[in-house]
Amino acid sequence: MTGRILDGKLVAAEVKKQVAEQAEQLGRHGTRPFLATVQVGDDPASTSYLKAKHRAAEEIGIESEHHHLSASTAQDKLEAILGQLNTNPKVHGILVQLPLPQGFDEDSIIERIIPYKDVDGLHPINAGRLAAGKEILVPCTPKGIVKLLTHYGVPVAGRHAVIINRTTLVGRPLANLFLNRDATVTVCHSKTANLAETTRTADILVSAVGREEFQISPEHIKPGATVADVGLTRVGGKLRGDVDFDKVSRLAGFITPVPGGVGPMTVACLLENTVQAALIQTRGG
Ligand code: NAP
Repeated sequence: MTGRILDGKLVAAEVKKQVAEQAEQLGRHGTRPFLATVQVGDDPASTSYLKAKHRAAEEIGIESEHHHLSASTAQDKLEAILGQLNTNPKVHGILVQLPLPQGFDEDSIIERIIPYKDVDGLHPINAGRLAAGKEILVPCTPKGIVKLLTHYGVPVAGRHAVIINRTTLVGRPLANLFLNRDATVTVCHSKTANLAETTRTADILVSAVGREEFQISPEHIKPGATVADVGLTRVGGKLRGDVDFDKVSRLAGFITPVPGGVGPMTVACLLENTVQAALIQTRGG
């Protein structure tokens, strides 16, 4: 048995097509969705993610601008820029590329973004709404994973979803999305005892670790399970995911490749969130 590929490139293209139509409709009513990104420092991975985000925005008719600040920028300067973007009526979505260089208080920066422009969905108000079952602006990677599963008809309700990650970016919002869709959810992390014992009970396994020494192998998998690989690690100059794809794909029912799985869905969902933010703002909240 070989697992069916969850093709993130293909589904992301469909999502982008729908988002482009929504953007066009907004344009006909005088609103051009607008995304502002902010990068502090020169982390090469961040630079390349941001390039991909701007390219994708341009492709589908979302206007965007980029603010690049040096790593020595003071926290209050960054906060001042966010204040300007918050009050600029042209800007519908604000994304601060994470991680910020050492010395920044990331939580306080995220809280500076006005919640209805928070297209990363990380503001505590948006996170709280999601935890309460209200999905308004939802973090892009978890949202993308759920869309991918939905597209391929992977059942979630009543299934056991195991997530290896407990961050506010991936694991926590994804746990809430799964709960909102009636899954039974287990969240694992670096202190989880007997990881493989838990993951082997998963109907849906999402791994988002991204450490060179960490790998999901067949011993972690229940035959027929759906496996989504979020983690990214550079090993010997090559990018790889958490999952030993060649071996695990023989056991899994569905599996995401790396690249071409969760990554393109993340970008597509950022665009969707930007158009959604523009809609919220043009409707007046
Ligand atoms: P992070 O802050 O480093 O979090 C990693 C998570 O993995 C933590 O919850 C950590 O547990 C857990 N972990 C670490 N070692 C473990 C182990 N041996 N066993 C079980 N759990 C372990 O990273 P992040 O920002 O959440 O991102 C996670 C990964 O996803 C990264 O590789 C990132 O590049 C990738 N990512 C990809 C996309 C995409 O679009 N493809 C988007 C976002 C993130 P503790 O909480 O106990 O430390």
